[in-house]
Amino acid sequence: MSGGNTLESGPPAVAPAETLLEADHLTVWFDTPRGQLRAVDGVSFALRRGETLGVVGESGSGKSVMVRAIMNILPGNAVRPPGQSLRLAGRDILSLTPTERKRVLGTEIAMIFQDPMTSLNPVRRIGIQLTESMRHHLDLGKAEATKRAVDLLNLVGIPEPTRRLRQYPHQLSGGMRQRVTIAIALACNPTLLVADEPTTALDVTVQKQILDLLDRLQTELGMSMILITHDLGVVAGRATRTAVMYAGKIVEIAETVELFDNTRHPYSRALLDSIPRVERPSHQKLDAIAGRPPDMVDPPRGCAFAPRCAYAQPRCIEEEPELSGDAGHQWRCHFPVGTPAGEAARRANIAAGVTATGLATSKAVS
Ligand code: SF4
Repeated sequence: MSGGNTLESGPPAVAPAETLLEADHLTVWFDTPRGQLRAVDGVSFALRRGETLGVVGESGSGKSVMVRAIMNILPGNAVRPPGQSLRLAGRDILSLTPTERKRVLGTEIAMIFQDPMTSLNPVRRIGIQLTESMRHHLDLGKAEATKRAVDLLNLVGIPEPTRRLRQYPHQLSGGMRQRVTIAIALACNPTLLVADEPTTALDVTVQKQILDLLDRLQTELGMSMILITHDLGVVAGRATRTAVMYAGKIVEIAETVELFDNTRHPYSRALLDSIPRVERPSHQKLDAIAGRPPDMVDPPRGCAFAPRCAYAQPRCIEEEPELSGDAGHQWRCHFPVGTPAGEAARRANIAAGVTATGLATSKAVS
């Protein structure tokens, strides 16, 4: 196994000098009419300087809420229970005053959202939107900020940058708009870039261009990056490490190559099996993950993945798995993929025709 660093309990196993961000027991609940919804449930990780952490999971797994908790942009019904901390370069940003936190989040951490139309103001010119944070946070004059805005548009590959500054978002293509939001995110030289499904709203050719652009910028500017996606194919070859989230928890985390080569969690395995592959026959159906994510207002008692898991055994329904593995590769599973216990569990389910929770193995097992 390769040497990663993340722990869900106790301090992250990384030399302090290398660590940029440390999340310890990050927890977010939402007050809803049906009760408290546990969106993020005790997530801990450490992000090294200059690395990209991919965070992967289906809609509702908690990955976007987790990064919004980092950015302090949660909706009004969010509850953050005590006992959690978030340290950026050694400073606990949860204990900063609102003004201090606004400055840190405006300059040191920047975020790119899924749909550029929701982060760009449709009635303001690109130039204004690009220069206002520089003028506010970096104290630049108008001419200096405009010059930097042109440089940033060049950096993100927008042709005719001076003309673009006078345009409105609707005058640009979707890919161009996302390049503008990336330029805005880079305006104050952040040390951490958070990209929340940055290509979901774009067509597949532009998706690759934007992901390649983020790769290049991250390397050139030496930033750390958290890349949120529902697609494990996106993090392959891009993320240094990958965390897989399910039901508000990290269920597996490792160096990306290690996670792909020695997948341990059945949910990660199912996500990998659902990636389209060119070598498959064109008429073959993709392996969808059977069932639905759990209701996090009323989560199951044992493993939250049990109702959908091809490896599930009676123990899984009763007992929630803790993290196992080592500092380089960790997972939450009683019957991990590729282990004698895991493969015996899977074979037993196939022989019985159902999993421990009654799911038909013909659907659950590929
Ligand atoms: Fe959860 Fe059990 Fe499946 Fe592991 S084998 S993911 S513990 S249900």
